Amino acid sequence: MRIYLDNAATTPLDKEVFDAMTPYLLDHYGNPSSHHEQGRRARHAIEECRNTIAGLLNALPEEIIFTSGGTEADNTAILSAVHAAGIGHVITTRFEHHAVLHTLRDLQTKGLIKISFIDNDAHGNLDLQHLEQLLASNTRSLVSVMHANNEIGNLNDIEYIGQLCERYDALFHTDTVQTVGHYRHDLQKLKVHFLAASAHKFHGPKGVGFLYCRKGTPLIQLIHGGGQEKKLRAGTENIHGIVGLTTALQIAYAEIDEHQAYIQQLKDHFIKRLLNEVPEVSFNGNSAHADKSLYTVLNVGLPALEYSSLLRCLDEQGISVSGGSACSTGSSSHVLQAINTSAHKDNVRFSFSKFNTIAEIDSVITILSNIYQTLAA
Ligand code: PLP
Repeated sequence: MRIYLDNAATTPLDKEVFDAMTPYLLDHYGNPSSHHEQGRRARHAIEECRNTIAGLLNALPEEIIFTSGGTEADNTAILSAVHAAGIGHVITTRFEHHAVLHTLRDLQTKGLIKISFIDNDAHGNLDLQHLEQLLASNTRSLVSVMHANNEIGNLNDIEYIGQLCERYDALFHTDTVQTVGHYRHDLQKLKVHFLAASAHKFHGPKGVGFLYCRKGTPLIQLIHGGGQEKKLRAGTENIHGIVGLTTALQIAYAEIDEHQAYIQQLKDHFIKRLLNEVPEVSFNGNSAHADKSLYTVLNVGLPALEYSSLLRCLDEQGISVSGGSACSTGSSSHVLQAINTSAHKDNVRFSFSKFNTIAEIDSVITILSNIYQTLAA
């Protein structure tokens, strides 16, 4: 049996989510735009889902727009700020996902925006005084700062950043793809204009997510065609995906505290055993700090192997992990480049879910210590 520790890339689908989705594939297949009974039933299901998600996040149903996932939600937020709200200056971080950074680079290349990066230290902590200076010295900006980084797990204080944005009349977009379903978000409390989420990061299906857009914030129409999603996003809705997304979020919210405690315990156990049994271990960013990092992610620097890459070696031994973002496999990580990591190490992201066990963590430790013992012999 393989050991899957790549849950920041994607999580396994919950069986309960699958069961909730199948009737919308097999039986309730009506097009939500059709006026007959089957169409009305499909439309009703989508609007129920929107209400449920809005209820969980303390938002209004009309503030939830279903998308094909996190990438589309991030793109829509940024393009709306630029094309619909007339923003010409974006303040962001060197740690954002490519869904944000590549969108911003493209807009910069086209001469539509200027980008400012918030300074950070060697652990990836953002300098929020610098953010305030940037806000003070520029006319109306968009601030795009993720809640938690997908590679090193660093958590950013989006509550405080939202307050700063409000003080300086800036728009605030936060990529919460790694935290929705793992932390509670209260959108009455958070001063955000845009927030992005993706179902496959919390045991829902791939290819579906949502954008929260605060009422009154202008949005552009990204995809043209029919009148779906209030003419913002044309195309027949992914109804089984939307049902899966909603069910996954409901399950996540019902069990959020116990899952957090359980997964944090797996992570703590792993850290302790790594430090005791594997040589020259270091942790990248804040990922070993319980209060400052996502409890699902641990980014570890391990001695590089001469004969193979550590990632390949672990894969051959039945362990699925990654070196960083699954979306940028093959290129060196922009996140690790922005912090202090040793060139002599292989950096491995281990990411956990409620389906992992202590026995799996112990097996990984045994495999790692065998790899390094063989080397030392
Ligand atoms: N943002 C972050 C932080 C992510 O980790 C990911 C996925 O890895 C995305 C955005 C993109 O989400 P999706 O795969 O749903 O397009």
